[in-house]
Amino acid sequence: MSTLEIRDLQVSVKLPEGELKPILNGVDLTVKAGETHAIMGPNGSGKSTLAYSIAGHPKYEITGGSVTLDGVDVLELSVDERARAGLFLAMQYPVEVPGVSVANFLRTAKTAIDGEAPKLRTWAGELRTAMEKLEMDPAFAQRNVNEGFSGGEKKRHEIMQLELLKPKVAILDETDSGLDIDALRIVSEGVNRVRATGETGFLLITHYTRILRYIKPDFVHVFVGGRIVEEGGPELGEQLEAQGYDKYKVRA
Ligand code: ADP
Ligand code: MG
Ligand code: MG
Repeated sequence: MSTLEIRDLQVSVKLPEGELKPILNGVDLTVKAGETHAIMGPNGSGKSTLAYSIAGHPKYEITGGSVTLDGVDVLELSVDERARAGLFLAMQYPVEVPGVSVANFLRTAKTAIDGEAPKLRTWAGELRTAMEKLEMDPAFAQRNVNEGFSGGEKKRHEIMQLELLKPKVAILDETDSGLDIDALRIVSEGVNRVRATGETGFLLITHYTRILRYIKPDFVHVFVGGRIVEEGGPELGEQLEAQGYDKYKVRA
């Protein structure tokens, strides 16, 4: 069983003039395989910074604390090594990959993570099944990654990666933003399928409570001012839905 452990994580963003602006002020969080944690907080509270720091984005500097995956120091690993170690990040603003088809991208990613190419015959079937479950046109596999993708297609592509790559820990940053209600349902069902395997821990980052109606978190963490200010179960999500973040802002 895999465990991601974040201890007293402090992170600054690197500004163009070379200055450091502190964003995360000591984040503590443990995510085990099979658990789903929702991180909820207002805009600008540092949620994406947390996701990018764990994924290894060069714009962020770790100034203190630690992140380990099954005891391995994640912060010492390159971005590629983090993915191979079993970390998966679905970004709020995914990038286009011109000239690389979805099918090739997924196969390359799978090969990199497993250390060997997937068997051609079974792989084609896995890809097809993943696409069918997400109600996607098979022609989608031949399109270039994220090029001209609608919001819903980008998210479905992320969930396809999730289903095929089977990460130990998946961080989904605002996967619900820009989705219509059908796409939200399909994407949530995909997450719930992977969740049901019990082999992936989820960090579900969101501003709104909407997605939590479809993906019931085991734990909810309220994130304000670069740290967790309150923790609870699913009922905390419902409370936020009714009351918003105002009471935390006053305290922060
Ligand atoms: P969230 O995802 O919760 O909306 P972010 O992690 O995106 O929050 O941002 C947290 C804070 O860091 C914000 O105040 C934001 O303005 C600041 N920030 C992020 N990136 C930069 C940057 N490149 N330059 C200056 N400030 C930044
Ligand atoms: Mg934001
Ligand atoms: Mg964000």
